[in-house]
Amino acid sequence: MVTELARLERVADLPPPAGASALQVVLSFDVEEHWHIEAAADLAVAPDLRAHHAERVEPATRWLLDLLAGLDIRATFFVLGELARDRPQLVRAIHAAGHEVASHGWDHRRVHHFDPASFREEVRRSKDTLEQLTGAPVVGYRAPTFSVMRRTAWALDVLAELGLAYDSSIYPVHHDRYGVPEAPRWPFRARGGRHAILELPPATGRLLGVNVPLGGGGYFRLLPLGLIDWALRQTAQEGRPPVAVLYFHPWEFDPKQRRLPLPWLRRWRTYAGIGRAQGRLRTLLGRHRFSRAADVAQGLTDAALPTFDLAVAAGGLAPR
Ligand SMILES: [Zn+2]
Repeated sequence: MVTELARLERVADLPPPAGASALQVVLSFDVEEHWHIEAAADLAVAPDLRAHHAERVEPATRWLLDLLAGLDIRATFFVLGELARDRPQLVRAIHAAGHEVASHGWDHRRVHHFDPASFREEVRRSKDTLEQLTGAPVVGYRAPTFSVMRRTAWALDVLAELGLAYDSSIYPVHHDRYGVPEAPRWPFRARGGRHAILELPPATGRLLGVNVPLGGGGYFRLLPLGLIDWALRQTAQEGRPPVAVLYFHPWEFDPKQRRLPLPWLRRWRTYAGIGRAQGRLRTLLGRHRFSRAADVAQGLTDAALPTFDLAVAAGGLAPR
């Protein structure tokens, strides 16, 4: 691991990608209370701590809105339905600032917790709530903790049947809790049992035959920032199409929030680098141009993309 990191750091020393390319970088944020993080999934979080985190979401998100306004950047915000119900003014502010409001489900339960019928209700409920608040259609979805995987491939059918234009939930990496390492690294048509939907996978770099997760979150806080530049440069050069998706959470830019009582390793993974995350984000945003996911999806409507069959056991890349 240490050697791998050293190798990655050397790669990251290369200069950032030069000038114009067809590269499109989707900037996205998952708007949720901090205690929803996967590292705290088995933790009983005290009601007062939950209440504290609920209070922090809005100022942390508004900090992002101010930052993006100053840089004239439009992004996609995947918002929990439950949070939208409780903080309608925040959702309206996101929409009014020109950002895309998309669905992150209702209450952050992962897709495994549902069957197709209850998942449909969960997504529909969040979609309806967001649409009523903004008056604009919701066309995108991101599953909590990237939980669209082989065993939840049926979720793609539900998303397609609900009329969504894209999903951004299939992380093409090895991870103990999520990921489909053999899925394409660039936008593709993700097939469930019956339907396919455009998939915008989180960004990766590829090194020595392995996909390295570099789309954001903990990877953004813990690894050298130059690694994200490296992944974007690789996407610009090799991506078919050259689209990369970055994802962050408002809580990651709120160093003053109270910490969750996590065991030390998870605590370190969750909070290391949080003090410098605001500055890092500013730096990153200054280095690239960014798009909303819906705009990228729109531009790919007629693109010839590979189809990846998530419902089959392995090697599901089909040339159709
Ligand atoms: Zn989430």
